[in-house]
Amino acid sequence: MIVVTGASGFIGSCLVDALRAGGTDVVGVDRRAAGHDGGRHLVTELSAPNDAVVDVLRRADAVVHLAGKPGVRDRTADIDAQRRRDNVLATRAVLHAVPASTPVVVASSSSVYGGAPNGRPSREDDVLAPGGGYALSKVRAENWCHRRRAEGGHVTIVRPFTVVGPGQRDDMALARWIAAAAAGRPLEVFGSLQRRRDFTDVRFTVSTLIALLDHPPTVVNIGSGRSRPLAELVDAIGDVVGDPVVRCRPVPVPEPDETLADTHRLRSIVGEIPSTDLRRIVAEHVGAGVTSRATPEPLIA
Ligand code: NAD
Repeated sequence: MIVVTGASGFIGSCLVDALRAGGTDVVGVDRRAAGHDGGRHLVTELSAPNDAVVDVLRRADAVVHLAGKPGVRDRTADIDAQRRRDNVLATRAVLHAVPASTPVVVASSSSVYGGAPNGRPSREDDVLAPGGGYALSKVRAENWCHRRRAEGGHVTIVRPFTVVGPGQRDDMALARWIAAAAAGRPLEVFGSLQRRRDFTDVRFTVSTLIALLDHPPTVVNIGSGRSRPLAELVDAIGDVVGDPVVRCRPVPVPEPDETLADTHRLRSIVGEIPSTDLRRIVAEHVGAGVTSRATPEPLIA
């Protein structure tokens, strides 16, 4: 039995669906109800998990801990407390409940690198340079993982780079921009369209998480290894929805100009990395047909 925390979220629900489609017994855990029907799902606050959740974490064959408070730009009044509860304390509690011999994969973030200055890809052994509260909370979560590993825990840390795909969170650029373009409103872009991101397909993210369950503990980037200007995402939206009007606004919190994953370690685990087809992802998001000849087969059946 595999436990997936954050099972009602974007990546978590995609992972739960992929595991169940492959016949795996999965228990989803989240503070929110399940986003899908069927299968076992436990509702709890993970920074102080209830007895039923502690019990499944003890009995699990493996755990993928995706629960967390994402969003680098969130400026809610108590955001620091939320990040501490969801990214740091929840990770500590999950690691504490899982026996040392049980494989646990924990979601950190590419944000811990603070960007890719001069286009140099971020490597897992780089000195971390968290640039804000979200990144800092992920570094603190990683520290609990290292501590658990030092005690003999079988803990893998993953650092996903901008994950995109069906089920995307509403607060992410892709979802916001598509909604605006479809409604004929201008796209609000923070900073320049020349800022670059390493976009990673959620299906590849999920297949990597599954591969890591049978892998020795490690720290690994989950990225495509290619950074693309935000303008490419706007072009993809234009191709599918119709050319949008773009309004650039100042970035509300400091953000790196570029993110880019070094993928050597990732490739040694999963082999070739599929490129992220932004046009296909936009088309899926708006529910339109996919017409690109370059569209790859689904990564997860
Ligand atoms: P999401 O917000 O869609 O899902 C997170 C889920 O965790 C939510 O359903 C939420 O209810 C649950 N949760 C949060 N704190 C909890 C707590 N204390 N107790 C119980 N449930 C809790 O986020 P996502 O995009 O699916 O991201 C999953 C993980 O991957 C997060 O840790 C995030 O920081 C990390 N990550 C995401 C991206 C990305 O591009 N989406 C990139 C890097 C890292």
